[in-house]
Amino acid sequence: MRADLLVCSEWEQAHDRPVYTLSEQCPDCGAVAVNSVPAPFNPEDPYGEYRRSLKRRRRE
Ligand SMILES: [Zn+2]
Repeated sequence: MRADLLVCSEWEQAHDRPVYTLSEQCPDCGAVAVNSVPAPFNPEDPYGEYRRSLKRRRRE
């Protein structure tokens, strides 16, 4: 069974890091909590460059 982990919808503005909660409201700032499905693309993904270079290498 998988827990319904939610994440604060305003965490990028309100917090330094994602605030996860099991309730529908952020315990820290009171914002709505949303499903914590990882974004398919994160422009600030520190490993994005690494992943992209791996992909490039695989194609060659
Ligand atoms: Zn919050």
